[in-house]
Amino acid sequence: MVFSSKLIEDAVNEFSKLPGIGKKTALRMVLHLLKLEKENVHAFTKAISDMRDSIVFCKQCHNVSDTLLCDICSNPARDKTQICVVESIRDVIAVESTGQYNGLYHLLGGILSPLDGIGPDQLNISTLYHRAKNNDTQELIMALSPTIEGDTTVYYIAKQVADLPVKITTIARGISFGGELEYADEMTLARSIAKRLPIDNYVTLGKNS
Ligand SMILES: [Zn+2]
Repeated sequence: MVFSSKLIEDAVNEFSKLPGIGKKTALRMVLHLLKLEKENVHAFTKAISDMRDSIVFCKQCHNVSDTLLCDICSNPARDKTQICVVESIRDVIAVESTGQYNGLYHLLGGILSPLDGIGPDQLNISTLYHRAKNNDTQELIMALSPTIEGDTTVYYIAKQVADLPVKITTIARGISFGGELEYADEMTLARSIAKRLPIDNYVTLGKNS
């Protein structure tokens, strides 16, 4: 792509560094910004700079936050007896969006993956242990990827906190709602049968959704 303006070229190059954005899309965005009032473009760039400059990680759960303690950790209405253990902020957003969970979170920052050089020291596991030790904590809900690495991480954490009086649970894994049985993979179907629910639970869940 040949540009007649170095300024446009620089802006296009910056946009094309974003995930999923090629040069053509980047150019479309830049030309769009060029059409906007200057104030609108300044508001756009200020929001991005402010976000990058001011965001911190919550000292308790490691979620991204505007303050030292995030909105979830500092909310007195949240149930402090439950900690949902997840990999990243995207998982927090996903669980929060269900509106079904009122406990706290703990972000590990990934899962154990020795082949990629990710061991326990690279994850926020020691801070999780200290939180689990706190008298308020009664249950750790493991909401990690349904993979070998995810399962390994669950077992590792369970072993670490084995001496503490906390209950460890994992989120249910099974056939997705609206999914067809014959298309489910064997592992999912096997888990669904092993972790089957009494019909009472099934009917209650159906009414809530
Ligand atoms: Zn927090």
